[in-house]
Amino acid sequence: MAVLPIRIWGETVLHTPAAPVTVFDDKLRTLVADMFETMDAAPGVGLAAPQVGVAQRLFVYGWSDDEAAEYRGVAINPVLWLSPVLAEEPDEEAEQEGCLSFPGERFPLKRADQAILAAVDLDGEPFEIRAKGWLARIFQHEYDHLDGTLYIDRLYPPYDADAAKVARKRGWGKPGRSWLPGMDRLEG
Ligand code: ZN
Repeated sequence: MAVLPIRIWGETVLHTPAAPVTVFDDKLRTLVADMFETMDAAPGVGLAAPQVGVAQRLFVYGWSDDEAAEYRGVAINPVLWLSPVLAEEPDEEAEQEGCLSFPGERFPLKRADQAILAAVDLDGEPFEIRAKGWLARIFQHEYDHLDGTLYIDRLYPPYDADAAKVARKRGWGKPGRSWLPGMDRLEG
């Protein structure tokens, strides 16, 4: 197992739709094990394959709610159904989101409160999870990565301009940038 470098905003693979997984072999198992290790090392609550440079439709997630229920798994070739996103301003604190590919920053974003995730596991077995609140947000965030969308792309004013300013300041927005959890110290 290995911690993988996480690609940063501007890397082409992050901004390109990923292809369905067609081969369920040991290589895929190793990738998923490495993605869990990378997510835990970051640390993060989710990680999509494009973030580690693999243009395939899968993500891992790991999160515990206030009642200490733990949600952890891998979703391969997922489909996501969402409740409507309310047309109102996001709460500045309760609805802040972050991304390991836009590290060290958080911005408010409105998301659907409920989601149904349908996917297959490492054995190709289908499963379905009904999620709400933060788990639903994680699924939406990770699913977006598979379509080449980052939450940064969804920000509304003034947060979109704030994010653009950060990217400019850090020299992000062009290919070739990554960071390695456990090795690289993040600024800010
Ligand atoms: Zn992300």
